[in-house]
Amino acid sequence: VRIPSSLVCSAVLAGICQFTLGATEAESATDARMLRQIFDTALTSSPAYDQLRELTQKFPGRLSGSKNLEASIHWSRDLLLKTGAEHVELQPVMVPHWERGAPERVHLGDRPLAALALGGTVATPEGGLTAEVVELQSLDALVTTDVQGKIVFFNRPMDPTHIATGTAYSGAGDQRGRGPAEAAKHGAVGALVRSLTLSLDDIPHTGNTSSPPGVKRIPAAALSTLAANALSEALKANPHATVSMQLNSRWHDDSLSHNVIAEVKGSEFPEKIILVGGHIDSWDITEGAHDDATGCIQSIEVLRIFKALNYAPRHTLRIVLFTNEENGMRGAIAYSTRAKERNEVHVLALETDSGGFQPRGFNLGNPTGNAHLRAARWAPLFTPYGITVFQKGTGGVDVSPLLAHGATVAGLMPDSQRYFDYHHTAIDTFDKVNKREFELGAAAMASLVYLVDQHGL
Ligand SMILES: [Zn+2]
Repeated sequence: VRIPSSLVCSAVLAGICQFTLGATEAESATDARMLRQIFDTALTSSPAYDQLRELTQKFPGRLSGSKNLEASIHWSRDLLLKTGAEHVELQPVMVPHWERGAPERVHLGDRPLAALALGGTVATPEGGLTAEVVELQSLDALVTTDVQGKIVFFNRPMDPTHIATGTAYSGAGDQRGRGPAEAAKHGAVGALVRSLTLSLDDIPHTGNTSSPPGVKRIPAAALSTLAANALSEALKANPHATVSMQLNSRWHDDSLSHNVIAEVKGSEFPEKIILVGGHIDSWDITEGAHDDATGCIQSIEVLRIFKALNYAPRHTLRIVLFTNEENGMRGAIAYSTRAKERNEVHVLALETDSGGFQPRGFNLGNPTGNAHLRAARWAPLFTPYGITVFQKGTGGVDVSPLLAHGATVAGLMPDSQRYFDYHHTAIDTFDKVNKREFELGAAAMASLVYLVDQHGL
C-alpha cells in the first residue's frame, strides 16, 4: 500500500475536523502508525526465528569452498521465493578455498593451549613446529626485537575503554590480519595471536590473516584469552619457554560460489534500488549465528513484513546475501562491480553484520557525508523502540564498496557488548540469539527501509 505523502486528517473529508494537520505532522503520524505495524508484525508469529534455527543448524560451517555454504545458498533462494520475491538470481563468484584440516594442537611444554588456526594460514611443517616464543604488544615492536627463528606472540588486548566494542576490535585487529605476515618478514617461523575478544575464557576466536604476494607464509593460530594470559605468565617465569604447534590446513584452487540476489520491483521507481543484506558465509568451526545468519534472515524478514502488511515498495527492494565476506570479500566486490557495470542506483544499501542483538541505531554514509544527519530527522519515530543512534559510517563490509559508486550505505547497529563473546567461535550458535532482540533488529531494518522508500534520504 502506497501511503500518500500529503495525507490530511481524514476527518477533513467528513467536514468535522477542527484543523488540518500540516503535511509533516500528518506524515509523521502515518509513519508512526506504520512503524508500530512493522514492529507488531515482527514481534508476533514471525517465522524468522525458526528460519534462523534451520539455517544455522542445517548448514553450520558455511566457509567458502564448503558444501554447506552452497547448500545454504540454495536453501536461501528457495526461502526468498517462498517469502514472495519476484525474482531470485544466483550471481556466480569464484571464492578462495582454504580448509582447516584435522584439529590444530598448540602446547606449552605438555600443557595444551586452547587455539584455532587462523583462516588462510599454512600448515606447520611435517612433524610440527617447536620454537621459543617472543611476546610483543604491537607490529611496530618487530622492528626493535630479534624474532629470527622464533614464534611471535602478539598479545595486545582489545582496549576495554571503548564503549563500542567494534572500535576495540578494529584497534587490535592488525595483530591477526597482518601480524603473521609482518612477523614472517622479520624472520619469525610461526605466529600466535591473542583472540580478539574482551571475554576472559578458554574459547579461541579464528578470523582471517593475509600475506601480501611474495611474503613467505608462516603457521599462525589464535589463542584463547586465558591461554594467552597463561603463556604470558610462563614467559615471565622462563623467557626461553618453547611452544609446539601442529596446524593441518590446506589451500585448494578457487571454488564456485554465489551471491543470492532477490527482488521485488518498485511500483514507482523500479530502476532505483533499496538493498538489504547480510553475508551467508561463516567460519568453518561455527554455526555463524550472530555472524551473520541473523543478518541474512533479518533481511529476508524485511520482505516478509512488507508482504504481511500489504506494503508495495515504491523503489525496487533487493535482498542480497553476500558470499565470502569472511575470507576474501569476493561476493561484495562481484556485486559492486556488477552494479557499476549496470549503472545501478542504490538509494540505500543497508547491511546487518554486527550480531542479532537489540538494535540501537544505524551508521550511515553517502558521498556528501550527511546521510546520518538526514536520517536523524526520524529519531522521534524510532525512539519508542529504543533506537536512538544515527552516526556517520560506511555501512558494513559488503555494502561499503557501493559508497564509491554514489550509493547511500547503512549498517544496523545492535548493542555491541556481547558480539565479541561469540564472534568467529564455535559458540556462535543459534541458542545465543535472543528471539525478541533478533525480531526487533528485523523491524528496525524494515522501518528504515520504509522511511527511505517513502521520503528518500
Ligand atoms: Zn560477519
